[in-house]
Amino acid sequence: MHFRSSLLRRAQQSIMKFIDIGANLTDLMYTGEYNGSKRHDSDLKDVINRARDNGVVKMMVTGGNLEESKKAIELAKEYPDLYATVGCHPTRCNEFIEDPEKYYQDLLQLIYDNKEQVVAIGEFGLDYDRTKFCEKDVQMKYFEKQLDLCEATGLPLFLHCRAAAQDLVDILVKHRSRLRGGVVHSFDGSAEDRDSILKLGFYIGINGCSLKTEENLAVMKDIPNDKLMLETDCPWCEVRPSHAGHKFIKSKFPEYPALDKKKWKEGCVVKSRNEPHTIKQVLEIVAAVKEEDPETLAESCYNNTQAVFFPES
Ligand SMILES: [Zn+2]
Repeated sequence: MHFRSSLLRRAQQSIMKFIDIGANLTDLMYTGEYNGSKRHDSDLKDVINRARDNGVVKMMVTGGNLEESKKAIELAKEYPDLYATVGCHPTRCNEFIEDPEKYYQDLLQLIYDNKEQVVAIGEFGLDYDRTKFCEKDVQMKYFEKQLDLCEATGLPLFLHCRAAAQDLVDILVKHRSRLRGGVVHSFDGSAEDRDSILKLGFYIGINGCSLKTEENLAVMKDIPNDKLMLETDCPWCEVRPSHAGHKFIKSKFPEYPALDKKKWKEGCVVKSRNEPHTIKQVLEIVAAVKEEDPETLAESCYNNTQAVFFPES
């Protein structure tokens, strides 16, 4: 009986399809490098295969600046199920300062040259938790500047927002008619933030960082299913045992033993380095909190993501 029901569960689970909208697969951890030290061979292929084996059919590789956007595109050319975003993260907007017009044109050209791979502008936005990397006024200036990329290309937005929802929404409102829409990823804001993003018609991306506290869970619960997207933000934002959402996880992936990076072996995952296949855990938490059927919810999130980032496929 137990055997049959677990077989049935496997069969059902294999039907679920995911799109990870936030996969930082250009991160050097996937080449085995951690804080400048080489710890193991590159295992990016294994990471991608584990994602595929668990129903992740597409992954959006985030570009955090011009260089990283180029790398994301390179990866997307190598793997047919990977796609790229092009843009400059709020913490890196100082890169614009030396020659803003050139930096902007380089981003724009990169998109024009790689239309097959690039599915969004981003990640960009505002991050007031980390103004030590880039001051508020610089962040705001080049966030607004990059909205021109959206208008020029017609691409949707992949937005990053930390402790800055009011300013972010105000800027988006001002330019709303020029923008096709998009998602605020890695959302961890208040109910008020949630509602102002929804009012704009934007989607909200949920990962482990969005599910840390009971308050996070309560805010997430009231995101309508037709405005929800799932992501991992890997290698960051894994769901940790101390997080409020952790108790709802069903998939523990015993088939992938987790080892310390110094002891890594082929076929193993690295402790505390997140990967796209854990998107299923994000779904499990969201479904449990919303008291919804995981399959139905997975399908809604998949369809939402398709409609915004892959309208032609
Ligand atoms: Zn982000």
